[in-house]
Amino acid sequence: MLGSLCYNRCMLIRENVPIAALTTMRLGGPAKFVLEIRNNDDVVAAYDFAKERNLSTWVMGGGANTIGLDAGFEGAILLNRANGIEVISENDTELIVKCQGGEIWDNVVRFACERGYSGIEAMSLIPGTTGAAPVQNIGAYGQEVSQVIVNVDAYDTKTRQFVMLEKSEMDLGYRHTRFNVGADKDRFFITAVTLRLKKAHMQPPFYTSLQAYLDEQEIKDYSPMTIRTAVCAIRESKLPDPEKVASAGSFFKNVYVEKDEIAEVEAKGVPVRREANGRGKVNAGWMVEQCGLKGKELYGFRVNDKAALVLINEKAKSYADLAKARAEIVEKVKNKFGLTLEQEPVEIPVKE
Ligand SMILES: Cc1cc2nc3c(=O)[nH]c(=O)nc-3n(C[C@H](O)[C@H](O)[C@H](O)COP(=O)(O)OP(=O)(O)OC[C@H]3O[C@@H](n4cnc5c(N)ncnc54)[C@H](O)[C@@H]3O)c2cc1C
Repeated sequence: MLGSLCYNRCMLIRENVPIAALTTMRLGGPAKFVLEIRNNDDVVAAYDFAKERNLSTWVMGGGANTIGLDAGFEGAILLNRANGIEVISENDTELIVKCQGGEIWDNVVRFACERGYSGIEAMSLIPGTTGAAPVQNIGAYGQEVSQVIVNVDAYDTKTRQFVMLEKSEMDLGYRHTRFNVGADKDRFFITAVTLRLKKAHMQPPFYTSLQAYLDEQEIKDYSPMTIRTAVCAIRESKLPDPEKVASAGSFFKNVYVEKDEIAEVEAKGVPVRREANGRGKVNAGWMVEQCGLKGKELYGFRVNDKAALVLINEKAKSYADLAKARAEIVEKVKNKFGLTLEQEPVEIPVKE
């Protein structure tokens, strides 16, 4: 145990920490070092620390979308624990807030809803940190963080400079961004995220399950706090609480098919939702369910009986078990529908 290291100030550094203890799926062997980042000075100090020891680095927030391998990580995990929400400007129509990357995402949602601002209320209770939100462009119940991002502050590990990236520079798509795909994957440590929220109400029709809940409860007030309360109730009724149940949320991404493939997919009885860009979206959870896997146990994992996209780690201790469960699900879906499921959570490579 190194305890704390002092450059500009003290930063907590731990050695040989199981990745399982840092991630909501609770899998993964030891990380050689774990460094807790509380401000920009720590970011610089952490990369210096790694460089001096010739270590690879891996950035982590809440570990809610991250899987560790059995062999662990032979480098330094930089845990983003810098928090705070700063109001940049506020008027009758909009609120601009700058949120530190380590701030818990749901704290930001609650902050906005309490002040009556809309834009992120449907993304209530998504586990993890604000700095990770742009990485896979989080979304739920009809909202995506891409709709409200203004810019991010980041440390560019290539140039070793702090930079600001505008939304137009982030290539934000469905679970796909400049931060998680392509040449700049893992290049930036996001230190802060600035969001623009509106004094407005979401308007119906809502995402199917949200609409059904609002109808059932006869709710006609669509204020941000009402929508937040509804979304929290829906999520609590069907998604595992990461504090109590090990999972990484949705384990597979929804599948997109090109315009000219839609008819072929529909001919196999698969419902395809047409998107504005002409592509078709297939609900991956629906396919898993149709394969008879909902509620089934596979190698220590349980396919959630309420949301079939969620794999719950009931008693698996090893990544190898996850690999077997994943292969079985992917194969069944491929055989039945001819479509290939892609994993949503990222994996920490043993060596970068
Ligand atoms: C029960 C459950 C429900 C979920 N529901 C949803 C949902 O509805 N919608 C949704 O989109 N997601 C959902 N997720 C996934 C997860 O909550 C999100 O992906 C979230 O953004 C992860 O945040 P994190 O801080 O835990 O990220 P981590 O898992 O720590 O990191 C995820 C990725 O982001 C990178 N990263 C993290 N922080 C930074 C940073 N500061 N700078 C640069 N890169 C960084 C990491 O290197 C990694 O590649 C769910 C997960 C769980 C467990």
